[in-house]
Amino acid sequence: MADRAWLQCVACSARFGVSPMFYGCPSCQALGKTAPLEVAYDLHTIDPNMVGEPTSGIWRWSPLLPPVREVSRASLGEGATPLLPIFSGRNGLHVLLKNETANPTWSWKDRPNCISVSMAREFGFRRTAAISTGNHGCAAAAYSAAAGLSCVVFCHAGAPASQLALMASYGARVIRGGNQEALFRQLLQRGDYYPCSVFCPRPGYANPFGIEGFKTIAFEIYEQLNHGIPDRIFIPAGSGDGIYGVWKGFRELRELDWVTKTPRMIACQASGADSAFRAFQRGSHRAQLLDSTSTVALSIAERIIGDHALRAVYQSEGSVLAVPDEEILEAAGILMRQGFALEPASATALACLRQVASEWTAGETWVMIGSGTAVKWGALAAGFEMPRLWDPDVDDLAGLSL
Ligand SMILES: [Zn+2]
Repeated sequence: MADRAWLQCVACSARFGVSPMFYGCPSCQALGKTAPLEVAYDLHTIDPNMVGEPTSGIWRWSPLLPPVREVSRASLGEGATPLLPIFSGRNGLHVLLKNETANPTWSWKDRPNCISVSMAREFGFRRTAAISTGNHGCAAAAYSAAAGLSCVVFCHAGAPASQLALMASYGARVIRGGNQEALFRQLLQRGDYYPCSVFCPRPGYANPFGIEGFKTIAFEIYEQLNHGIPDRIFIPAGSGDGIYGVWKGFRELRELDWVTKTPRMIACQASGADSAFRAFQRGSHRAQLLDSTSTVALSIAERIIGDHALRAVYQSEGSVLAVPDEEILEAAGILMRQGFALEPASATALACLRQVASEWTAGETWVMIGSGTAVKWGALAAGFEMPRLWDPDVDDLAGLSL
């Protein structure tokens, strides 16, 4: 029987069996180039009846995920997150929020780490490693714990104590400082660590499987819209794995002939970390490395976005937007007052959406991805003044406009 899935080079289309290949395409490497591999499928063999019941986590989409034996599959009940209306503009603008804070570690990173860690176990690894500003490290730590694997996370210097404490509580070794990229690479070269970091901007040493987890966001939206497709999707974009993964999901739905169109992918960046925005303004398919980043949206404070994210934007006839921190914080406040505690990176998507709200036309469906919670960042408490501690009786409350 022919393989139902394989690894394929995004540059030269060379194919390889599903195996622990973390250094990109060997054929391209032989020519002195670095190109990532991604999972491709024999889509002709897949029909909608093969998808499992909605209660079984993201593995219900297993025909469209890398081949993993059930015994190797890690799951913490990820996925099946709500798609809810959040925002009505003056022109009737209708926006839906895909609320990824409903995942086990309160961010969309649970989806790629669910797949990555399961593949680690499938391949027989005992140890995982990740580089993180927060959310990714928490997810890698949690899924490694669920799979019985040990985990080391190299953390961004600015990652808050609340995130590090969560990683450590899941049992991960947390390393701050040093040259994270170099340490990560050296650890992988020892051969006994599995990289939880996915695809780009590290095509030289990453795993090609985690992207497949992000795809399930597209599959769920398709299902939640009664087999429909939104017109635009606004996605926070740092390294670009998320936007590319969601795009790959919609692209595969079209290749499967389950849908006839795909959404326009809108990459949403902070002005202080806008490598994709700058590339898009130039009409370029490749971002340039920023000297530094400065934004409240730490989850997307990457100095460069991967080529794959720009490919998603161009192939979907989408665009890249960027907004300053003030607009991000304003959007975070709007979300909070609707009951959604989303982190600044997620609020970036709403801030960008507001920038183009006048382009919405009646009947269109716009979706924004709420990638992670505000609660893990500690910023909520930072400016909060504790209410006075007192012992009121009910008459004291009369003047408080309750
Ligand atoms: Zn290649």
